[in-house]
Order: sequence, then C-alpha cells, then structure tokens
Amino acid sequence: MGRLRGRRARHAQMTRWWKVLVGPQGPQTAGPVVGVLGLQGDVVEHARALSAVGARPVTVRRAEELDGIDGLIIPGGESTTMWKLAVIFDLMEPLRKRVGGGMCVFGSCAGMIMLADRLLDGVAGQETVGGIDMTVRRNAFGRQVDSFEADIALAGIAGAPEQGGLFRAVFIRAPWVEQTGGQVEILGTEPATGRIVAVRQGPLLATSFHPELTGDVRVHRLFADMVRDRT
Ligand code: GLN
Repeated sequence: MGRLRGRRARHAQMTRWWKVLVGPQGPQTAGPVVGVLGLQGDVVEHARALSAVGARPVTVRRAEELDGIDGLIIPGGESTTMWKLAVIFDLMEPLRKRVGGGMCVFGSCAGMIMLADRLLDGVAGQETVGGIDMTVRRNAFGRQVDSFEADIALAGIAGAPEQGGLFRAVFIRAPWVEQTGGQVEILGTEPATGRIVAVRQGPLLATSFHPELTGDVRVHRLFADMVRDRT
C-alpha cells in the first residue's frame, strides 16, 4: 500500500516536472504523437524540440506505450545501459516489431547505435534494435577527442546544404557509420574526418550528433514531417 502510494506520488512528481521542463505543448489535438524512449539519456531535450516543431511528445518506457505513438525518438545517452534496460523492461522485441512495421524512428548518438544492424566496439553481448542497414562503430570519435562541435552540410533539412546552410553538430563520445547498404541515404559527413554522421533509410533517421542540444530544431522538423507524411 505504502509502496503503491510512493509510486503514485513519484509519478505525479515526474508528470509535474515533465510539464515544467517540456513546457506547454500547444493544442493537444494537433500534431503527431511522438514517443521518446525514456529509459535513459537526454529525453527531456528531445521532448522540448518535438514540442517546438508541433509534435506531441510522450515518454515510452513500457511495451504498451509503443502502441499509441506515430513515431519514436531514441535519445542520446549510453547505448550499453539503454540496451540493458530495454532487455529488463522487455522492450527489445516490441521495438523491433514497430521498426519492422515501418514506424518512423529517429536515433541520435546512442540512438543511432540502437538503430544499427551491425555494431563494432560494443560491449560483450551488446544487442541493437536494428533497422538501418549500416555498420556503426561505437565511441569512434571518442578515441580521438571526447566531444567537439562541427558545422555539417546536412541534406534534407531546410536551409542546407543546397542553399549553403550548415548545421552546428554537437558530438559527445559519438559513433560514426562505417559502412552502409544500398538503401541507406547518406545525409551528412563530418568535415575533418569525412566520416558518415547522418543517414536515412525510409522511415528511419539517425545522427551521430545531438540536434536536441543546440536549439536548432531543423532535424526534429524533418523527423516530424516524416511522421506526418506516414500518418
Ligand atoms: N558512447 C555512447 C554509447 O556508446 C553514446 C554517446 C552519446 O549518446 N552521447 O552509447
């Protein structure tokens, strides 16, 4: 009884914080419902960016919560922890099912790792959800420098690169894409290394960097438009 009450109180507290951090979300009936996988990582930052582009963010921690969403973001964080928690929460198979069913999913950094069909430099036994026909090397930039920023020419977002616009990308112990299959569209490379850092395969989008951390919501706008187009 006490435990249940404690849980309820915690949930109410979380909901209050969610509202404070994410802010008013505009008309609740408009815009696609986009889940943010809330096991670990920068969940609130993604939710805020989604609100800014007119989507309705919700956290997803349980398999049932996957049913009510039009699209999903897998945030940056730590892919090994995210994977372990997804196993504990019985989310790996339900996630694979929704990805296989064609739901729009965007993964940033650790989220990109989660969307990779093949992973290099993972920890022993580390699994991914998969979906994008690519090989991703974990902590690839991290070996050279832990975190850095770079201006990236990014295809598919408003104002770049056709019009000469660039996207300020924040890399934190970031992965890079080492190999891609024929269906994968390369959206951007990191200028100093030439490594692939942004890709799209149909409804799946992934970046090595963190567009949720800069206040530039063009990647989230692209993703929200992808979700709108499919729903
Ligand atoms: N290095 C992290 C991992 O392996 C990713 C870092 C990040 O998401 N900023 O998951």
